[in-house]
Amino acid sequence: MKKYDVIVIGGGPSGLMASIAAAEHGAKVLLLDKGNKLGRKLAISGGGRCNVTNRMEIQDLIAHIPGNGRFMHSPFSVFNNENIIQFFEGLGIQLKEEDRGRMFPVNDKATTVVETLLNQVRRLGVDIRTNTAVKTINYDHEAVSEVVLQNGERLPTATIIVATGGKSVPHTGSTGDGYPWAEKAGHTITELYPTEVPITSNEAFIREKTLQGLSLRDIELSVFDPKGKKIKTHEGDMIFTHFGISGPAALRCSQYVVKALKKFKTQTIKMEIDLFPSLSEEALFQQLLAKVKAEPKKALKNLLKGFATERFLVFAYDRLSIDSQSQASTVPHDVLRSISQLCKHFTLEVNGTLSIEKAFVTGGGISIKEIEPKTMHSKKKQGLYFCGEVLDIHGYTGGYNITVAFSTGYTAGKSAAQQVIHN
Ligand SMILES: Cc1cc2nc3c(=O)[nH]c(=O)nc-3n(C[C@H](O)[C@H](O)[C@H](O)COP(=O)(O)OP(=O)(O)OC[C@H]3O[C@@H](n4cnc5c(N)ncnc54)[C@H](O)[C@@H]3O)c2cc1C
Repeated sequence: MKKYDVIVIGGGPSGLMASIAAAEHGAKVLLLDKGNKLGRKLAISGGGRCNVTNRMEIQDLIAHIPGNGRFMHSPFSVFNNENIIQFFEGLGIQLKEEDRGRMFPVNDKATTVVETLLNQVRRLGVDIRTNTAVKTINYDHEAVSEVVLQNGERLPTATIIVATGGKSVPHTGSTGDGYPWAEKAGHTITELYPTEVPITSNEAFIREKTLQGLSLRDIELSVFDPKGKKIKTHEGDMIFTHFGISGPAALRCSQYVVKALKKFKTQTIKMEIDLFPSLSEEALFQQLLAKVKAEPKKALKNLLKGFATERFLVFAYDRLSIDSQSQASTVPHDVLRSISQLCKHFTLEVNGTLSIEKAFVTGGGISIKEIEPKTMHSKKKQGLYFCGEVLDIHGYTGGYNITVAFSTGYTAGKSAAQQVIHN
């Protein structure tokens, strides 16, 4: 039987990059994946366009990785966002920058990204076995000894890189298989939870689907603790759904909802939407007043057309019991104030999120305290490496998770090969 220097388990972005780096640094590599294809999650990422990385300064990149971003200083010193861009451009895949530094392939095809990685893996002579599920890893006293497949086959090796991903979107192969293997080696798994996930609410207007499908652009969305203190605010777009809220701002807030519900042991948490983040409530009221003064004879409904999105205004008239047909000049000032108040502080009680399986990303995972950040080597067993979402590291949507996967994957692959060559 052919003996490999390095066995990589999992062919997502972290495992593919780990295989490439290990092979580039001289190791004989075997890549195992239980699926019939590699990079299945990568192929559906970024809405099928694959947001490969994000072009910003390292400090900003880390600020967008709320789950243990500081750990990434070391892996980024080995392989960072600029290296990812150079890697793809060096292989002839041009990337383009969109809003907030997000980088995509110019042809908007995630499959191009997957194919490029696969071609490189093949070119470097990595052996690939798909439809090959790993059952467990065996260790002797201090070090890894073999990979055991579901079919009972045993693959002895001195170096294993675990790149099995989290527990989200399991049909892509990420079913949390790596956690028990890490526990068996003595690692701690921090509590798993859904992040970058739509938020649920039992408010009557959500249940009745009053605002379902309504998108709000450039709003500010905040999460509050039970004492009314703001925990977190994110700006961006959001959408009302049949179960609650979603869209970039809601996804970014979701982990704070999960954590607050748990921490304060409450059934619901207050969130607030500010539809006009750049204006104060008073300035908004003054704008409304100026409109009324300019066209006092118009019906309020016609006067406020275009002031905010139509469906929201209809909702506001109903919630505030305002007769929108009234002539503007007859509308009392406190009613105008209540409209500006609602626009600035539209609150809703939320009661959770969709499941971890429906989340974009898994929060929690293998504790980073037990991993050497410069090499991704386990502090528990010799020859054991981890990379990607299986670790307790998670970023916001916007290319940060794939960046973490590529960076930790490359670092693990390079170090694993160097360890083999050194010994
Ligand atoms: C719909 C969607 C869109 C996303 N869009 C973006 C985006 O645009 N930008 C971004 O940064 N992030 C995005 N993410 C998150 C990002 O895709 C993940 O963080 C990333 O794929 C994690 O990479 P990974 O290599 O750690 O694991 P995964 O991509 O989950 O890959 C794990 C691999 O391990 C294999 N495996 C698991 N168990 C076994 C086993 N027992 N034996 C053998 N093989 C096994 C699986 O088959 C799988 O191929 C998105 C996620 C989703 C769900």
